[in-house]
Amino acid sequence: MSITPLMPVYPRCGVRPVRGEHCHLIDEDGTRYLDFASGIAVNLLGHSHEGLIGAIQKQAATLMHVSNLYGSPQGEALAQRLVDLTFADTVFFTNSGAEAVECAIKAARAYHQANGNSERYELITFKNAFHGRTMATISASNQEKMHHGFLPLLAGFKYCEFDDLEAAKALIGPNTAGFLVEPIQGEGGIRPASGEFLKGLRALADEHDLMLVLDEVQCGVARSGTFYAHEQYGIDPDILATAKGIGGGFPLGACLATEKGARGMTFGTHGSTYGGNPLAMAAGMAVLDAVGNDEFLAEVREKGERIRTRLEQFIGNYPDLFELVRGRGLMLGLKMKVEPRPFFVHLRDNHQLLTVAAGDNTLRLLPPLVIGDAEIEEFFDKLSAGAASYTAPTAA
Ligand SMILES: *Cc1c(COP(=O)(O)O)cnc(C)c1O
Repeated sequence: MSITPLMPVYPRCGVRPVRGEHCHLIDEDGTRYLDFASGIAVNLLGHSHEGLIGAIQKQAATLMHVSNLYGSPQGEALAQRLVDLTFADTVFFTNSGAEAVECAIKAARAYHQANGNSERYELITFKNAFHGRTMATISASNQEKMHHGFLPLLAGFKYCEFDDLEAAKALIGPNTAGFLVEPIQGEGGIRPASGEFLKGLRALADEHDLMLVLDEVQCGVARSGTFYAHEQYGIDPDILATAKGIGGGFPLGACLATEKGARGMTFGTHGSTYGGNPLAMAAGMAVLDAVGNDEFLAEVREKGERIRTRLEQFIGNYPDLFELVRGRGLMLGLKMKVEPRPFFVHLRDNHQLLTVAAGDNTLRLLPPLVIGDAEIEEFFDKLSAGAASYTAPTAA
């Protein structure tokens, strides 16, 4: 037998964390890494956050799980909190981002079917998007590397160039149900949509009675410097998928919708065994207690601006390595002029700095939102040392 007990779908690296302390991860052999990956935009409060640990411990000792067939005081409280903080009127809780997007896709289709327009099932999605790894969410992305081996895809998705409003408009037809878009593409390389594009999609949706569905699984929950990124664009969606940061490390996601966007989501149409269980609700509440306020969001914006300004100065020293800095808040991308993966490995293995590689030659910088001045200094020390000691591999 040569297959490993862990199904070998991830090419795992040699870093084997066993403990976390605030913005650092500690490996099996005691090596300390500065964590600018945050479990891919998950650990908003860093590692070992007392409020989050306390909330989970207390709830675990009280009531961990019950069926959604019972009333949920814990779910009602967190849903109310999200309704108060956002555009949404109603919330469905999931355990992951892909499930949140699945619920959003179902809600967009169900809206039209509830209106008697069952031919309107198609979502226009955008190139280099990432929406998850279920059959529906890989079908929603044009990235062939995720399709390979899993055909046929689900019907009902049309791919459009990202940030190209005219192209999106041209794809609208009698089968169109709506748009599914990340306001800031994450895996695609930290590419924020232009204001013109998102506002334009909102206007097209209004004009043609389409659902505007936002995937804020990566950019949502304070990461971009506002609670959700779309707030910076001055538009509201009909439906929004959120996950990653919302549980601070506990598996939690949600599909948020206006009353209109959830028109088709009636008794018996959707469900989840674990979704919204008391333990997850306690984790979500602890995260919102920390990040769901103006002071915290202002700090994220301030730290994001500070890091960004310094990064822009820094890349001027290495014009052959780096092209530009982009992103919002503490969701930053360093676009490189060389293949980013070897540099990301060099930072990790030689300078103990964890980042995340992404599409479009971009290195993602996703620190915990609670990062302090000392860790920001440490980051620039490691990045500067890393750039100074780096020689890009020559093409074979
Ligand atoms: C990570 C991600 C998902 C999928 O979330 P999972 O929890 O891995 O299922 C969906 N959309 C976006 C934008 C993401 O970044």
